[in-house]
Amino acid sequence: MPRPIIATIHPAAVRHNLERVRQAVPDAKLWSVVKANAYGHGIENVFEGLRATDGFAMLELDEAQRIRNLGWRGPILLLEGVFEPRDLEVCSRLSIWHAVHCDEQIDWLAAHKTQVGHRVFLKMNSGMNRLGFTPDRFRAAYARLNALPQVEEISFITHFSDADVDHGIDHQLQVFHETTRDLPGERSISNSAATLLDGEEAKVRCDWVRPGIVLYGSSPDFPTHDIAHWELQPTMTLSSKIIGTQELKAGDTVGYGSKFKAEGPMRLGVVACGYADGYPRVCPTGTPVLVDGVRTRTLGRVSMDMMAVDLTDLPKAKLGSEVTLWGRASNGAVLPIDEIAAAAGTLGYELMCHVTPRVPKVIEGAGK
Ligand SMILES: *Cc1c(COP(=O)(O)O)cnc(C)c1O
Repeated sequence: MPRPIIATIHPAAVRHNLERVRQAVPDAKLWSVVKANAYGHGIENVFEGLRATDGFAMLELDEAQRIRNLGWRGPILLLEGVFEPRDLEVCSRLSIWHAVHCDEQIDWLAAHKTQVGHRVFLKMNSGMNRLGFTPDRFRAAYARLNALPQVEEISFITHFSDADVDHGIDHQLQVFHETTRDLPGERSISNSAATLLDGEEAKVRCDWVRPGIVLYGSSPDFPTHDIAHWELQPTMTLSSKIIGTQELKAGDTVGYGSKFKAEGPMRLGVVACGYADGYPRVCPTGTPVLVDGVRTRTLGRVSMDMMAVDLTDLPKAKLGSEVTLWGRASNGAVLPIDEIAAAAGTLGYELMCHVTPRVPKVIEGAGK
């Protein structure tokens, strides 16, 4: 028998979360962001759940190709555009739209031989200082693109650095709209946080929103709001089992570095999950975990392949009991990935992307 750890993907939850975004901005089109292999879920595992989307956005041609292979004929957008001139040939062939964020990408387009007009999303650096043309260079870039026979349609795109905080988007929002004011074309500016927090404003949702993390059941502004507040469902459950138990007496310690010391009699369970599975080693004693769907806490250091959990108040827990590291337990109890991420000083994004290859991924409802 293999180690009992698995990552279960919940397509119905993905569908629910997409629908939730749709309700928040009913008159906007949705780019479902599936970069980083659908935030670690596997593009093929979430595709069915995302069928009701208006388009898929990602970074890599390989991922775009996989979406086409699944039969998707609708819009696909490369959020960073092409990385070298010959990528444009694939864009022409597979009808892939692409961002244009620098002069070199315009040079490549100008030299590209194609029968198919390209749909491009001209990217503005409105303050994040990652990719894009600064406002003072934006209109010149537009004029260049607009003069190219290779370009059929130009849309406008920018990205917020602080959409999860109150008024965090105000400055970039103003710069973007001022700079593009009289230019014809569709606009896309909002990630998950901007969509849920400010999407009721037309100038924020624009024509297309670009939700990523909310589709995967993580709150865009945790801990201010959790997924229950946003009515989102976990899309990935990392679960395992108790593979050993120990009785402790006062003074006994647990694990490497003896980081936890019992103050009195206790019972602990050893879980087949460690940092080599993607569970963060930095999670301290007290990080929440579910055993048989009941909340308890971790004890001591996370090892490579194992970790300990407190069973003192769970007398029925035993060898083989279900352990939910994050996600949804069999009894329906939910442990949001955001809580584990907070304990590790990071975000749900990082945890879902870091589940390691030795953990089998299973699609719920697809049989085993
Ligand atoms: C990742 C990304 C998104 C999605 O962001 P979330 O915070 O996951 O919603 C949107 N737009 C761009 C350009 C991105 O890189």
